[in-house]
Amino acid sequence: MKVRFWGVRGSIPVPGPSTVRIGGNTPCVEIQTTDREVIILDAGTGIRLLGLDLVQRPVERLVVVLMFSHTHWDHIQGLPFFSPAGRRDTRLVIMGERRVDRRLEPVLAGQMTGAYLPFTLEDLHADVLIKEVHNGEKFVVGNSTTVLPKRLPHPGGVFSYRISCQGRTAVYASDVNHPPNDLVPGLIELAEDADLLIHDAQYTPEEKQERPGWGHSSWMEAIHVAQRANVRQLALFHHDPMHTDDELEEIERQAQAIFPPTFMAREGMEVTL
Ligand SMILES: [Zn+2]
Ligand SMILES: [Zn+2]
Repeated sequence: MKVRFWGVRGSIPVPGPSTVRIGGNTPCVEIQTTDREVIILDAGTGIRLLGLDLVQRPVERLVVVLMFSHTHWDHIQGLPFFSPAGRRDTRLVIMGERRVDRRLEPVLAGQMTGAYLPFTLEDLHADVLIKEVHNGEKFVVGNSTTVLPKRLPHPGGVFSYRISCQGRTAVYASDVNHPPNDLVPGLIELAEDADLLIHDAQYTPEEKQERPGWGHSSWMEAIHVAQRANVRQLALFHHDPMHTDDELEEIERQAQAIFPPTFMAREGMEVTL
């Protein structure tokens, strides 16, 4: 299983000289499973470069499964610029949470109307299938990849995903709000013994104290989850737009001193599990 980070920044894209090493694009992670399925987690602005890369790959027909953690803007804003979606030879399966208060399709279509863009979701030429799944409803991608979605606390709710293929497991937990002085128990269970945990680390512990209900984690909370869940590697993810490369690399050093198998998710980085 290969994991590649195409966008690692939270909230808003922040291009510029102070973010070139870690990256300024909003969340997008690609997983290539051992049996060659392509799974994309979230469609932040990082998905634009992933799309350009995907159309260069030597496959007869591109089949991708795009899973949304939730539909906050930083996780959907790249979708209109995902070039495979404009091609007839692409099969694009879009997945997200089945909710009682709103459907996934009108939310995605809602950012693609005349007020914002010159084309709509319906204009995309790809064979698009939108599938909603319930919290805890395990599903299979391709022949042997299992995916377990779990709803966690975040304003409006968020899905984390546990993705397993041929004995390797990656867990994606962006935008998670642990309560003060406690951890979300469901996440520890979801991440148990994973080879890689990608965890929200928007804040320093001090910033988290100032913003307890803003929907995000501190890097220290990410470490606590990783330790409790006995994961092999931890990727700190969804970096605050105010944090510079220098600050994030200093956080990485502090984090590694506490939990050595920790690293800062960086745009363009690839990890093999
Ligand atoms: Zn976010
Ligand atoms: Zn969010």
